[in-house]
Amino acid sequence: MNDAVLDPQDTGPSKGLDTISLLSSDERLKGRPKLCSDCGLCDSALKGRMSSACIFVHNQTAEIEQRLHGRGRRPDDERRFGIHRTQYAARMRQPNPQAQWSGIVTSLGARLLEQGTVEAVITTGAAPGTRFKSEPVLARTPAEVLATAGNKPCLSPNLRLLDQVREQGIKRLAFIGTSCQVHMLRAVEAELGLEKLYVIGIPCSDNVTYPDLEYFLTQVSRSPQTIVHYEFMQDFSLWMRHEDGHKERVNYIDFPMDKLHGIFPSSCLSCFDYPNTLADLTVGYMGAELGWQWVLARTEIGEELFELIRPELEIGELTSSGDRTRGMPHYIARLTQPPGAKKPPFLVRQLVAYMQRKKGSKGLEFARAIIEMKLLRNLNYVRSKFPRFEARVVPEHVYQTLEPYADKYQEVFGRPLAPQTEE
Ligand SMILES: Cc1cc2nc3c(=O)[nH]c(=O)nc-3n(C[C@H](O)[C@H](O)[C@H](O)COP(=O)(O)OP(=O)(O)OC[C@H]3O[C@@H](n4cnc5c(N)ncnc54)[C@H](O)[C@@H]3O)c2cc1C
Repeated sequence: MNDAVLDPQDTGPSKGLDTISLLSSDERLKGRPKLCSDCGLCDSALKGRMSSACIFVHNQTAEIEQRLHGRGRRPDDERRFGIHRTQYAARMRQPNPQAQWSGIVTSLGARLLEQGTVEAVITTGAAPGTRFKSEPVLARTPAEVLATAGNKPCLSPNLRLLDQVREQGIKRLAFIGTSCQVHMLRAVEAELGLEKLYVIGIPCSDNVTYPDLEYFLTQVSRSPQTIVHYEFMQDFSLWMRHEDGHKERVNYIDFPMDKLHGIFPSSCLSCFDYPNTLADLTVGYMGAELGWQWVLARTEIGEELFELIRPELEIGELTSSGDRTRGMPHYIARLTQPPGAKKPPFLVRQLVAYMQRKKGSKGLEFARAIIEMKLLRNLNYVRSKFPRFEARVVPEHVYQTLEPYADKYQEVFGRPLAPQTEE
């Protein structure tokens, strides 16, 4: 495998620090709106539907939820996790070593094809000669889906394959993707002429373009070229596995944030759907204990999907410990500081990382904590960079979820958390 086509260390983040930007320096994307996650819809014949489907033009989460569930979110964990019927800690009894976690997602895609439930699965493979460069794949066989196991942790224009779905006369389709892709897909679902659509969502936050991913790895790893797998774990550290099998671990608090700040696309910083709430079934890890996956069945179809894979699963226990509300006020205060400012000395960082692991939120409380942190950070980002967009791109559940921190927000930012109504 050769990922070293360019030397990312020399190129640096594709945009300057704190710069509002389209995605990366990718020529293909010139002319796109500033908030674009390259979901692929605009590469398809449905391009004309962009302004009415795009989550970054008008977030339609509440409307789509009404259509899918006939109701809005309950004032409990659903505000953070999205509407769901059941949730589980689970993992494959026989994990796929190529998978990101245990391989629930690709195993499910393969089963759907094996049983003839669907005719094709849209999934994300790796571009030839790379490990991590995303390439949308329209898989027609179980082997083709299984070959896409593992994250390609960069933006992927999966919806561009909708043209091929139509051209090939596919009527029963499974789609695996991130929350922005799923929002656009749901918005155009009725026009696709499908008899059945199965949506398997993965949680997603702070995605990057491929050049920025390469750059990121040069900043956090001693050997970026030999990484075969990496994940941001629930123990507040990044785990990287190398070709020779050795593992490298970097605590989040040790990340060189001053050098990383420019890598995140404006779209990902304006996203309010970390847990992929419009999917039928969401398969992540962040609400489960280390070593387990977190699975939420949201719709009847989601339950059907879960039942299909259940015989191959070991079911664990969902737990919750810690108290995120103690840390949130500090997090809100830190949002006013420039990224990377005043990094504490090494020993203090070691102590903080130890305390995070020992006393920090775990299980469902960890998921609540990071979802709330990203909602807050992204609300602030939209308010500072795209204030005129707030009414269109920030859904109501964001303010409802963050309401317990409204006083602190007012104190730190000198403005109410609630949206200001226009004169
Ligand atoms: C950028 C990114 C960020 C993520 N962040 C989180 C997080 O913060 N918290 C959390 O709980 N989970 C997160 N996930 C999901 C998680 O890492 C696993 O992908 C998920 O739990 C499925 O694991 P698995 O072993 O079942 O998947 P596998 O069976 O290994 O299958 C992985 C699936 O992911 C799909 N995929 C890979 N790359 C992409 C991509 N770039 N875009 C769209 N689909 C892709 C592939 O199509 C494949 O079907 C993230 C995933 C990505 C790609």
